[in-house]
Amino acid sequence: MPAASKTSREWIDGFLFVGNHLALDFLNTRPVLAEGPKELLPDVGALVRWLVASGLLTGQQGKVLNRKWSRAPQAAVFLRGLLKFRERLRASVIGQEAGFPVNDAFIAEINALLAQHPSVITLQRKGKKLDVGAAFKPEKPNDVWAPIAIAVAEFLSDVSAGRLRKCEGCVVHFLDTSKKGSRRWCSMNICGNKIKVAAYQQRKRTARKKMR
Ligand SMILES: [Zn+2]
Repeated sequence: MPAASKTSREWIDGFLFVGNHLALDFLNTRPVLAEGPKELLPDVGALVRWLVASGLLTGQQGKVLNRKWSRAPQAAVFLRGLLKFRERLRASVIGQEAGFPVNDAFIAEINALLAQHPSVITLQRKGKKLDVGAAFKPEKPNDVWAPIAIAVAEFLSDVSAGRLRKCEGCVVHFLDTSKKGSRRWCSMNICGNKIKVAAYQQRKRTARKKMR
């Protein structure tokens, strides 16, 4: 199952992979950067690049699909639906982080997606190990629902809400897999340093006030 993104590098081809779960990496395709909120999936070409970056497609598959889909009207319709779904996922994750249970309408929506876009499971060699994975060979844009629906279903069933966090410095969500459960930001490079510098300046200001 494609539960975790296949690599731990933070940025791959302009996409952020800090969520520790494919569902969160998908959610984080609309981060707020220094210049403001940024839609990383503005068109179908970008979506195909994200599928390659996340390891769901090979580069070769991506090239073929990009040619096939980039001007297909149904691909644009699909992408609009996918981005609306991403925002409903965001609402659900924010609710879970606040301690609310996942709402029934969202569960029903995932179940409908799983029923409409079933996945074929295959056994794959991963180094010396064998791994069960989804055989994702999309023909039409709607086929992309299959791995997304499975990732979100796994996320909702496997992930403990207590390990779910929103970065203290931005809108990015992640699964805290650190031993102590003390991860506070999406990435040291993106927000960690920013917050540390701000805290340092705040301490300096307070110290100066006390000296007066
Ligand atoms: Zn952040």
